[in-house]
Amino acid sequence: MSAKGRKTCKNQTSILIMEITSLRIKEIQEGFAKKEFCAKDVAESFLKRIEKNKEIGAYLSVFSDKAIEDAKKVDGLMAEKKPLGILSGIPCGIKDNIMVSGQKCTAGSKILENYIAPYNAGVIDKLEKEKSIILGKLNLDEFAIGSSGEYSGFFPIKNPKAKGCVPGGSSAGPAAAVAGDLCVFSLGSDTGGSIRQPAAFCGVVGLKTTYGRVSRHGLIAMASSLDQIGPLTKNVEDAEIVFDAIKGKDNMDATSCPDVKIKTPKKFKIGIVKEAMGEGIDKEIKEGFNKVIEKLSKENIEIEEISLPYMEYGLACYYIIMTAEVSSNLARYDGVKYGERSEADSLIETYFKTRKDFLGKEVKRRIMLGTYCLSAGYYDAYYLRALKVRTVIVNDFKNAFKKVDLLMMPTTPTLPFKFGERTSNPLSMYMADLLTVPANIAGLPAISIPCDNINSLPFGVQFIAPAFHEKNLFAFGKVFEKL
Ligand code: GLN
Repeated sequence: MSAKGRKTCKNQTSILIMEITSLRIKEIQEGFAKKEFCAKDVAESFLKRIEKNKEIGAYLSVFSDKAIEDAKKVDGLMAEKKPLGILSGIPCGIKDNIMVSGQKCTAGSKILENYIAPYNAGVIDKLEKEKSIILGKLNLDEFAIGSSGEYSGFFPIKNPKAKGCVPGGSSAGPAAAVAGDLCVFSLGSDTGGSIRQPAAFCGVVGLKTTYGRVSRHGLIAMASSLDQIGPLTKNVEDAEIVFDAIKGKDNMDATSCPDVKIKTPKKFKIGIVKEAMGEGIDKEIKEGFNKVIEKLSKENIEIEEISLPYMEYGLACYYIIMTAEVSSNLARYDGVKYGERSEADSLIETYFKTRKDFLGKEVKRRIMLGTYCLSAGYYDAYYLRALKVRTVIVNDFKNAFKKVDLLMMPTTPTLPFKFGERTSNPLSMYMADLLTVPANIAGLPAISIPCDNINSLPFGVQFIAPAFHEKNLFAFGKVFEKL
């Protein structure tokens, strides 16, 4: 248990809360095995800490009673030496665009403020099977659209590791909850960087999985050809454990795939992406990243500079494909089928008024951009062109992986920025996704791992692997985080 916790806490109960809530998955499992604490103690510690840290804004709803009940069931199984799951008694938080049956699922939007999920997402079935304890639902930018946590329809989320700075987005709640010890791990969704970018801003690990590796059934869709669910954790080992629990084929998601076995190299060859050190990347990030490269060289890790010539078109391509898909996915919120409704004189006016009253400004901007890109006359010029660019970006990666095992670049072009700094300029907000969108466009797995802080602010490095090679991200990631 951490000495840090002991020093800062005054009484016995708070020592326990602080020490338990800072533990990793294996450490909690060891605690269970040694009978230092039981699953109920763990759940209670987290619930108390959540209650005390409400000002972070990480949770939208907390399932206190259910969590304690589930933890007691796990304790019962442990006492009877019955089979346990790989996450038995491990508390987690779930981004509020992933459905947990019978609980509110708002996607961070006023339009779904009172929507109750009618079924479990595929990943929730898997977590329940592994007996993880779900503590509650985590705050996010509305419909997973945003890069700062400032676009939640309810309240903004704070960064526990960088005072006055945004936590990143859209999985702002999931990142802040892990960074603030408000859960052991969380599940987020990543369409253009929404797991990795907030993970980097909050100093935690974030994994975007290969497209199809994890079921999207029960994930409220943002852009279906890009969306993936993945874990945010305190270290790479935890990301691997959670990934193993949630991956795999789900008959309810036609794009999900069965498990694939891959070979992990004994020595990794790392490609440094040349374009990720060019225009749009802040000086501090370049300096920090150069230090990381130096460290790798000192450790005799083989590195090679790699060019992804079409990467510079990634952001433009993403903002066309994503907005097109957002505009069609969000068409269902019309005041009739789901969620809130503003009554008006005619059906068409009801549609307009409902969407005007209940959707946020940035969501409306994306819908309008997407509708424009898909409209007759512009479809070929924008949407079809973007699909072609997507193919050349996919080929860029294929060529790169002929030479190296993994690609490495900073996760974000800047350090965490201040609240309000980018909300008046959407394009500057979009720039936050510069280095994360290529992996989504190509459907590749990518992980953000925290490095030494720069100017006392968290800084993350991203590794990208060929499709289905998550195991290589974990194998190298575990070495990397110890350097
Ligand atoms: N920040 C990006 C956007 O606003 C990514 C969103 C996401 O990955 N869900 O589009």
